[in-house]
This record gives sequence, structure tokens and C-alpha cells, in this order.
Amino acid sequence: MDLTAVGTDVERIIVTEEELKMKVKELAARIDADYQGRDLILVGVLKGAVMAMADLARALQRHVEMDWMAVSSYGSGTKSSGVVRILKDLDRDITGREVLIVEDIVDSGLTLSWLKSNLESRGAKSVKILAILRKPEAAKVDVHCEYVGFEIPPDFVVGYGLDFNEKYRNLPFIAVLAKHMYS
Ligand code: 5GP
Repeated sequence: MDLTAVGTDVERIIVTEEELKMKVKELAARIDADYQGRDLILVGVLKGAVMAMADLARALQRHVEMDWMAVSSYGSGTKSSGVVRILKDLDRDITGREVLIVEDIVDSGLTLSWLKSNLESRGAKSVKILAILRKPEAAKVDVHCEYVGFEIPPDFVVGYGLDFNEKYRNLPFIAVLAKHMYS
């Protein structure tokens, strides 16, 4: 789906398709180097991380396992509720495993800090985080992301897996949702 298909629903593109491609390649190369000779399981956070996970996994030059979790943090609005609930758990045991959480965006950081400690409490050997996007609020919480794609302004964004009421996930770029869509 391209920009013409969404008309005035989006205000502006902040990360292009090309920039996303380059960044994912760059992050994959770092991960290849950092995890050389080590076990690695990617845990994608549904549904937002689907595009990032698919692109990252294919850019890696090594074997990886892929598993998925679904947690709820946002309702149908644009602000974090702070309540995290597991909607779908991992299929596999991660005891002793090296885990890399793949997330679309870190905003308040509530979701990720909860998820990281949840996975650590299951006895994972390591739990690290990759977030394609990071908003300024994330600096205030104690959640360290080893791999970050882009620092973005505190606007509500859609595309590349990120939705608004389940729409716009299939945009190949990241764009700011127009205010008239939700105010
Ligand atoms: P946090 O707990 O860090 O505040 O929020 C994390 C989750 O909120 C993300 O996984 C994502 O689902 C959602 N989220 C945060 N900011 C945005 C945004 O700008 N756009 C969309 N579509 N979702 C967001």
C-alpha cells in the first residue's frame, strides 16, 4: 500500500521504506557479530513487530528460532494504558536461552520493561531488546534497548506493522497519523 492509498489520513512520512531496509540490515549485521557462536531466539511482539521480525530474520546470516508473544498495552486509543496482559504466550521453554525481543516501538517503556522481567523470570540466559522506533518518553524509564532503529518525535505513528484501530500496518514506511483521525 502506498501513500496515495491513505490520502490525508497521514500527516507526513518520518521513516521511508528505504531507510527501514538499510537500518534493519545494519542492525542484523550488529546482531550477527554480537551473537556469533551463540544461541539466539527472536521473540516478536504481536502484532506490531511482524514486519520488523520478518525483515530482520531474513537479514541475519545465521540460524535463529522465532517465537511470538501477544500482550495488550494499548486499547483502541493512542495512549498507553499501563496495563500489560499476556494474550498469547511463547510456544517454547526459554530456560537457559539467549532471547532477543523484537518490538516495533518503545514509548512509555512499560510494555517492554514488564516483558523483559517476565522473560528473565523464566530463567532465560539473557534477554535483550531491539526496538525499531523509540520515542523520547522512553528515556525516563529504566528499560535498556540494545538495538534501536530510529529516535522519533512523540507523535502517534503508523505503518511497518504499527496500526491505528488495526489499519495502516501494511504501509511500507512509518508516518505520523493525521490529528483529525483521532481528535
Ligand atoms: P509503551 O508501553 O512503551 O508505552 O507502549 C508500547 C506499545 O504501545 C507498542 O508496542 C505499540 O503497540 C504501542 N504504541 C506506542 N506508541 C505508538 C505509536 O506511535 N503508534 C502506534 N501505532 N502504536 C504505539
